[in-house]
Amino acid sequence: MNISESLSEIKNYIDGKFERNEQKSLTIINPQNGNAISSLPLSTYSDVDKAVQAAKKAFPAWSGITFKERVQIFFKYRTLLEKNIEELTNLVVLENGKIYEEAKAEILKSMELCEFAVSIPQIITNEVQEVSKGVECRIERKPLGVVASITPFNFPNMVPHWTVPNALVLGNTMVMKPSEIVPLSTVRMAELLKEAGLPDGVFNVVNGGKEVVEAICDHPDIKAVSFVGSTKVAKIVYKRATSTLKRCVALGGAKNHLLVFPDANPEMTASNVVASMSGCAGQRCMAASVMVGIASIDHIIDKMVGYAKDIIPGKNLGSVISREAKERIENYITQAEKDGAKILLDGRNTIVKGKEDGFYVGPTIIDHVTTDMSVAREEIFGPVISIIRAKNIDEAISIENGSNYGNAAAVFTQSGGLAKQVMERASAGMIGVNIGVPVPREPFSFGGWNDSKFGVGDITGRSSIEFWTQNKKTTIKWNPEAQTNWMS
Ligand code: NAD
Repeated sequence: MNISESLSEIKNYIDGKFERNEQKSLTIINPQNGNAISSLPLSTYSDVDKAVQAAKKAFPAWSGITFKERVQIFFKYRTLLEKNIEELTNLVVLENGKIYEEAKAEILKSMELCEFAVSIPQIITNEVQEVSKGVECRIERKPLGVVASITPFNFPNMVPHWTVPNALVLGNTMVMKPSEIVPLSTVRMAELLKEAGLPDGVFNVVNGGKEVVEAICDHPDIKAVSFVGSTKVAKIVYKRATSTLKRCVALGGAKNHLLVFPDANPEMTASNVVASMSGCAGQRCMAASVMVGIASIDHIIDKMVGYAKDIIPGKNLGSVISREAKERIENYITQAEKDGAKILLDGRNTIVKGKEDGFYVGPTIIDHVTTDMSVAREEIFGPVISIIRAKNIDEAISIENGSNYGNAAAVFTQSGGLAKQVMERASAGMIGVNIGVPVPREPFSFGGWNDSKFGVGDITGRSSIEFWTQNKKTTIKWNPEAQTNWMS
């Protein structure tokens, strides 16, 4: 893919203009072949401050118009996503290494997220009640001011759309920091928002790494921070942002358990589990990572190996993000082997013809894993599934409950009673019944439990309306004759 000039050297987007100072830079790599595709400025506190000042300046006018006026821009923006879907899809493929169909699904999801955002005026009708004769109380949702969004590498287009449309439609202005590994999609987002008519300063992008994140957490004029990334960094960001008294929701990593009962439909279960563990090369916070097989499920495992063998790296399986990621994933598989687990399908040392320098790991199925092994406990973030055997539902649930994480859990069975027990007892924020990737679709909100999320509420859907706004409560006496509220 030939990229436009604006993408060949990434710039910050501040007050409606792209700019790049003499910052240190980072090379952006195409993970499918190891080639350099662009460079990114490693911005500092002063760049963040400049973006915050632009967002502060834009806030009064942007928050001063109605919801109905603000959503007009996002109707146009959604149309632009649709119009440019081929280019946006190819950008995700280029910077993230996903296969085309997965990248396209990401843009379609971004469009759905915009559809929720444009429906906000229909949802926010505010509250009003006559509390004494002639005296009224009302609650209105007001924006917070300048807010920030920090995103990870695995969904370069979709995760920014978890936050940007809702936060902006609700009247906030924003400083965004995309992952420094995949910054291209956010540049196009800024360009398309401008084309849709978003006023300058409402949306700003500051590129870089840790230093930008720290500046966002510390900046006194930023009111709220949303973060999506690993648990290690989510904890750092949550602590640092709240220590400066900001509102924060920080989504972290995952170790999702799928509980498979012997009565599960073998074809559907095997294909779902394999799709869940290998889709997006396993680099999804909703990916299946541990399968807990209850009693005799060998017939399902055999089918899983069959399905996984049909997944061909470079064809229907994308690359992982970097050389370090490939090494990390392969080291986990090697460690599991040393620990006595049985590798049923081995994705190590995968080379794709014509893309010999790409970072590919084939689908990997590891059986007879025990709960003390690192592949059972830690997030691998690659196309790898660890199978743990359990005697019964109680043991299976205690294995799931033993994880520090709690993003998703799923159950595969044809028994309503067993499914209900797992729904009730699993310690995870998002549960799937006969579904391997139980992402709640709009208007339902997205967010995990335990070490998979810090802060109150979820990041999307109705929950995000709470996060991006504050309530203003007004009590009104409409005329002098009105009865006095007994409290006043
Ligand atoms: P990451 O935590 O390394 O990076 C996320 C963001 O934090 C990036 O913008 C990065 O620049 C910044 N960052 C990295 N190190 C930092 C530090 N020491 N201090 C301050 N900021 C820092 O995550 P990643 O590798 O880009 O993404 C993969 C992770 O994200 C996985 O753990 C995955 O499970 C998680 N994830 C979670 C969800 C969810 O909804 N829970 C969704 C997507 C991804």
